[in-house]
Amino acid sequence: MQGGCDMVNITLYDSQYSPNHKGFPLFAERVERIDCLDWMFEVFTIRRVSVNIIRGDEYFATYGSILRAHSKKYVECLHSISNMGLVRATLANIFNPHIQWYTRVSPGSYFAAVNAAGTVCRAVNDVIAGDTTRAFCSVRPPGHHAGYERGEGFCLLNNVAIGALHALSLREDMKVVVVDFDRHHGNGTEEILSKCEPGNLLFFSSYQEGCKYVRGEAPHNSVRVPIPAGSDFSAIRKLYEENVLPRMLEFKPDLILVSAGFDMHPSDPLTNLCVTAKDYYELTRMLVDSANKTCGGRIVSVLEGGYNLTALQDCVYEHVTALGEP
Ligand SMILES: [Zn+2]
Repeated sequence: MQGGCDMVNITLYDSQYSPNHKGFPLFAERVERIDCLDWMFEVFTIRRVSVNIIRGDEYFATYGSILRAHSKKYVECLHSISNMGLVRATLANIFNPHIQWYTRVSPGSYFAAVNAAGTVCRAVNDVIAGDTTRAFCSVRPPGHHAGYERGEGFCLLNNVAIGALHALSLREDMKVVVVDFDRHHGNGTEEILSKCEPGNLLFFSSYQEGCKYVRGEAPHNSVRVPIPAGSDFSAIRKLYEENVLPRMLEFKPDLILVSAGFDMHPSDPLTNLCVTAKDYYELTRMLVDSANKTCGGRIVSVLEGGYNLTALQDCVYEHVTALGEP
C-alpha cells in the first residue's frame, strides 16, 4: 500500500511462532505482550492508517544468518533444550552454563526465536529493496541481551544483531547504525557487533545508569549513553542530541536498526525513568528526522522490552505513529 503525501510506507511484521515461547510463570516477559500489540495492529487497520501489515508469516532466519551472530555450540544447545519435554527442558534450562538461570527456554522456544530473527531479516530485505521505508517487528523472545554464546535476560537469539549482520552481508560498503533505547544496556548486541568494522557499523545504547548488563569497556564501535535514574524525557532528549544524533549524522548509515524497548515508561515494573508514550513519539521522531537526513528514512525497529501491557500498547502505538510519518 503506498502512503499518501503525508505518510511514508511502513510495514508492521509479527511472528507467528511467538506464543510457542513460554516465559516462566509470573515473569514479566510473557506471551500476552505480543497479544496486546495485536490489538494495536487492529486499531491501525480500522483507522485506515497507511500501513502494510504482514501477519502470521513463517519467516525463519537461515542457519547461516544465525551463525553470523552466535556460536554453533550455543545454537545447538538452544535447539536441543527446546525439543525436550517441559520438565527436562526446565531442568536443562536452569543448569545449562550457556543460559542464565532465569532465561527461559521452553519447548518451542527455538522456533519462536528463529522466527523472530527471521522476521527481522525479512524486514531488512524489504526496506533495503525499497518495498517499504520503515518497519516495526512485533517479535518475541526479545534479543538484545543474547550474546555470542550465551542466553541472558529474556533473550535467546539476538534479533537485531542478526538483522544488522544480515544487512551488512548484502553489500560490501553497507553502513548500519543500531540504536538501542531499551531501559537496559544492549550488552549482547554490543558484544556480537564489536567484531564489525567501525566504518560499517556503529552501535548506540542508552540505558538507566547502574544497569547490571554494563560490563567492561565499550568496544571501538559502541557508544554507551547512561541515563541517570529518575530522569524524564527532557534529560534523555538532551543526551540524544549531544551523544547520539550528531555522530549518527556524521556516520551516514544506509540503514538504521532500532532495539525498541518500552521499559523506560514510569509504570513499567523494571524501571526508574519517566518516559511517557508521548515521549516515545518524540524520541522516535528524532530518529526519523535523522534517518531522513542520512539514509532515505530507512528504519527497521524491533521490539525488545516493555512489560506493563497497557503502557506497552500506548508506547508502541506512539512509536509506530511516528515511524509512519515522513
Ligand atoms: Zn529492558
